[in-house]
Amino acid sequence: MTDVYQTPVSLLHGVGEERAKALAGLGIHSVGDLLEYFPSRYEDYRVRDVTEAKDGERVTLQGTVYGEPSVRFYGKRKSRIAVKLVIDKVVVTAVWFNQTFVKKRLSPGKEILVTGKWDRHKLQITVSEMTEADSDRAQKRGELAPIYPLGGDVTHSLLRRAIQQALKQYGTEIPEILPADIVARYRLMPRAEAFHAIHFPRSAEDGRQARRRIMFEELFLFQLKMQALRRITRQQTEGRALDVPIDDVRQFVASLPFSLTDAQKRVVREILADMRSPYAMNRLLQGDVGSGKTVVAAIALFAAVKAGYQGALMVPTEILAEQHLQSLTSLLSPHGIQVALLSGSLGTRRRRDVISALQMGLIDVIVGTHALIQEDVFFRNLGLVITDEQHRFGVEQRRILRSKGLSPDVLFMTATPIPRTLAITAFGDMDVSTIDQMPAGRKPIETTWRKHEQFHLVLEQMRSELRKGRQAYVICPLIEESEKLDVQNAIDVHAQLTQYFPEYRIGLMHGRLPAKEKDAVMQAFLAGEYAVLVSTTVVEVGVNVPNATFMVVYDAERFGLAQLHQLRGRVGRGSEQSYCVLIADPKSEIGKERMRVMCETTDGFELSRRDLELRGPGDFFGTKQSGLPEFKVADLLSDYKALEVARQETARLVEDEQFWQDDRYAWLRGYLKREGVLDGIVFD
Ligand code: ADP
Ligand code: MG
Repeated sequence: MTDVYQTPVSLLHGVGEERAKALAGLGIHSVGDLLEYFPSRYEDYRVRDVTEAKDGERVTLQGTVYGEPSVRFYGKRKSRIAVKLVIDKVVVTAVWFNQTFVKKRLSPGKEILVTGKWDRHKLQITVSEMTEADSDRAQKRGELAPIYPLGGDVTHSLLRRAIQQALKQYGTEIPEILPADIVARYRLMPRAEAFHAIHFPRSAEDGRQARRRIMFEELFLFQLKMQALRRITRQQTEGRALDVPIDDVRQFVASLPFSLTDAQKRVVREILADMRSPYAMNRLLQGDVGSGKTVVAAIALFAAVKAGYQGALMVPTEILAEQHLQSLTSLLSPHGIQVALLSGSLGTRRRRDVISALQMGLIDVIVGTHALIQEDVFFRNLGLVITDEQHRFGVEQRRILRSKGLSPDVLFMTATPIPRTLAITAFGDMDVSTIDQMPAGRKPIETTWRKHEQFHLVLEQMRSELRKGRQAYVICPLIEESEKLDVQNAIDVHAQLTQYFPEYRIGLMHGRLPAKEKDAVMQAFLAGEYAVLVSTTVVEVGVNVPNATFMVVYDAERFGLAQLHQLRGRVGRGSEQSYCVLIADPKSEIGKERMRVMCETTDGFELSRRDLELRGPGDFFGTKQSGLPEFKVADLLSDYKALEVARQETARLVEDEQFWQDDRYAWLRGYLKREGVLDGIVFD
């Protein structure tokens, strides 16, 4: 068989140097590329029965011109042509705007096809395209015409002809690449047929089946990569089976001030099982804000230390590092575990001391920012790394760890509520644990949306909370990409509130404060010395002040829903009823809808689902850095069932020894190789 992916398009009849160059501009080099240049949609030119056409629909009708067309001019260079058409004894009116030149083509008795918008009440079609019944246009052929994304010097007709030619010359050289049992089980159209039908569907159903087949194949290949990667990583990394003393862990859990939720128990079991297995753990722990991830981290760290290893907790900000240091110290030090902080704000001396204590194994658990795993930091025996906010710990950090001869168990914690369907896509090479339950006794945060002009009402509501001895956050107006202006805003708001509430102390926090000062402000707020904390978004992640029950977010429409949800998660952390007020004057309908969604639900997963609907996955994750793959045909939102099926099938496949040996799977193995998944793997 010829490999169509190795065959240059210039080998097609009718495609010379010039055209090959034009096609290359669209990224089409091989015949395979050409065949995989799928249409983005179809234009429906199938001639319709006029009695069945729906009002407002775009339809193609065929009829005979009856009588002379009438032309009317109005305004500046505006015109309207109308002519009667007879279609199966029905007389309809065809109308053209500003196209006087069609008049000469409308001689009485002529058979024509018109495509345009149908008005059922007036029996009238507003024509956008017309052709004579004896022409050779797509309209004439009465088909579903593929519409391709074009660019450069490539026209539709060039593409069509090239694709037609490719199918003619190489149509029989398109191999089936999916395992036969899968093609049969999911009733997929055979690959060669699908490549034909997606470009030239014989019917709408034909096109749908072709799309379905190709969509499945895309998701299957993607998941195959992920699952193969996962299996290979497991086999290659020299994980250690940590000898975790389970009874000690039980006692530790029993000593906590609360009992774990069922969801927490489940994820703890999953994590401990990974740590005790000979594979290196590679697990994503997701749980909504306030679902109690920190204590799960503490249990895992406890287990690692009791098994004789060191643990590290990496966080994105210094404030968070401080806070985790405190909570871990209070949980772990009563059990004889040494917890320390390594952050950028330590003096050189102190830093040196911490590093050498780490190296000597005098510190069991270290908390810090990225500085933790860099250059001059060495561990005696690192067994577990936990990161808070997964997306900020990447491939590079892992490489650094490996370069030190370490391949610890790794747990990524994230509060970004990623719908499961996307989690298994973006993080398909990881195992996923989910805390899908809140600790008992939490009251959902009451969220309201107010216009700027209603701000005085908000202040009165805040006053009544403060009188009860509670505390409040005020998140400041956000000006994109200008930290300086954000800081100025925070200073202004702080001044205003200080005037408005002379009886209360009001703290101010922003990114330009030195780390020490930030820390002091945060500590003072935690200790209740400030009633109100005015802040930029630096409080976004993780901060825990249970007595804070009121939050105001200025310019809420400027934040993404995921970020608003994170911010809102700073309240509602105790047993008291909490409130969040969003101040926003959104202009667009989507903007208003987003505010309503925030008010309706406090469930992060539900929110992310709605956000996805409103904005699409790219935006939700901040486009490029999302790590989400781009598919030609598949759509992560609507095709999520196929995604799940593909994951299950590929997971099963890569565990099967046959897959790595049998000829039937040669194409798929070749694919993995081309994609670099098998780099460094030797087959015998
Ligand atoms: P997050 O998942 O957002 O990191 P935290 O770990 O900060 O959440 O937990 C939020 C709060 O809930 C903390 O004050 C923590 O002590 C408390 N908490 C955690 N688990 C439970 C539980 N099972 N029962 C009661 N309170 C809990
Ligand atoms: Mg947290």
